[in-house]
Amino acid sequence: MMELETMYQCLGISSQVLSYGKSIEDSLKERFEAIDARAEYNQMKVLKAMQDNRVSDIHFAATTGYGYNDLGRDILENVYASVFHGESALVRPQLISGTHALHIALSGNLRPKDELLSPAGKPYDTLEEVIGIRDSVGSLKEYGVIYRQVDLLSDGTFDYENIKKALNEKTKLVTIQRSKGYDTRPTFSVKQIGELIAFIKNRKPDVICMVDNCYGEFVETIEPTDVGADMIVGSLIKNPGGGLAPIGGYIVGRKDCIDRASYRLSAPGLGKEVGASLGLNQSFYQGLFLAPTVVAGALKGAIFAANIYEKLGFFVVPNGSEERHDIIQAISFGKPEALIAFCQGIQAAAPVDSFVTPEPWDMPGYDAPVIMAAGAFVQGSSIELSADGPLKPPYAAYFQGGLTWYHAKLGILMSLQKLVEKNMVTI
Ligand SMILES: *Cc1c(COP(=O)(O)O)cnc(C)c1O
Repeated sequence: MMELETMYQCLGISSQVLSYGKSIEDSLKERFEAIDARAEYNQMKVLKAMQDNRVSDIHFAATTGYGYNDLGRDILENVYASVFHGESALVRPQLISGTHALHIALSGNLRPKDELLSPAGKPYDTLEEVIGIRDSVGSLKEYGVIYRQVDLLSDGTFDYENIKKALNEKTKLVTIQRSKGYDTRPTFSVKQIGELIAFIKNRKPDVICMVDNCYGEFVETIEPTDVGADMIVGSLIKNPGGGLAPIGGYIVGRKDCIDRASYRLSAPGLGKEVGASLGLNQSFYQGLFLAPTVVAGALKGAIFAANIYEKLGFFVVPNGSEERHDIIQAISFGKPEALIAFCQGIQAAAPVDSFVTPEPWDMPGYDAPVIMAAGAFVQGSSIELSADGPLKPPYAAYFQGGLTWYHAKLGILMSLQKLVEKNMVTI
């Protein structure tokens, strides 16, 4: 222990901050054990899928150009379909982000005059322009897709009465966002999503239920496809890429839905048959293999941060003791200096660009300056330890990721160290 303390001191963590962290960590033993047990189950789930699909080293070979007969790509898609219990999957580097994958899933499955319904309130920011909630060139609205939204009730639950009213003969697709993202509503459990899907399918069996699964993969032992979702969609630079995927997105689900999405991604008539994997397959397989443990580390970090800052009197969402359904942690600091110090601490703990001091800047599309900490191997990767927040009340930092628990722990201790040094908290 003595040696470890010295090592933390070399990194800039005082013994006072370290022992405060240790007291919090000691109180979380049981919760961490539960997270490890889920990770073990999910690790076995991923391994079984790889074995059942006879993954072999020839699948790591690179293809170029059209990518006809890209065996590694096809088997990877079968592995994703097996892991998430779907009929088919589209897992591609050509899906450049979560937003892009969601756009392809939506635009591939909706036709002019169809209605798209969001029964969980306003979707993630970037989806506003995809759908056309905010006018945007090329939005679904420009193609004649009608959008309806039913807001959540004030307690964060589904407004079943109004969802029933919103469903009609034109409703083609229902989009459900699992994670709160950077909103203040609760994240839904897979069970809650299953209840919502059952309610919707009971009234309209032919409607396509799609779940935006971003930040939710491997947090639980079941996924939305296990409770009736026709499609789940996510980003490979979040949970399922395990930190190793340098780009990519996935869509898993019913074969006809995936096929329609694939005709939108490449071209009608081509679909899944084309698209070279360019040598990225090994990272995709290996990242998926590591994902359950990486997610476990990120979850421990989120819970550790919640408990540290909750005990110091800050407002944290989710709170220190509640069950988790995604990896995001929000901490409200109440004043700009504390938010800035927190983000600077996360940056200072990074393996990449630790010497850089993040400053708030006027980011396009935001109504207040934003501060971001990201010392990541992959640009924008939010399964890696990262934090950001807008410089406006309540001065909340949104914190997520950490490829290992030990790194997430250092990041949080470093953030606390910065706050202590600036006399913004006393421990
Ligand atoms: C991150 C995220 C997205 C968008 O993914 P990008 O890869 O950033 O485009 C969509 N929905 C939710 C809930 C997310 O967390």
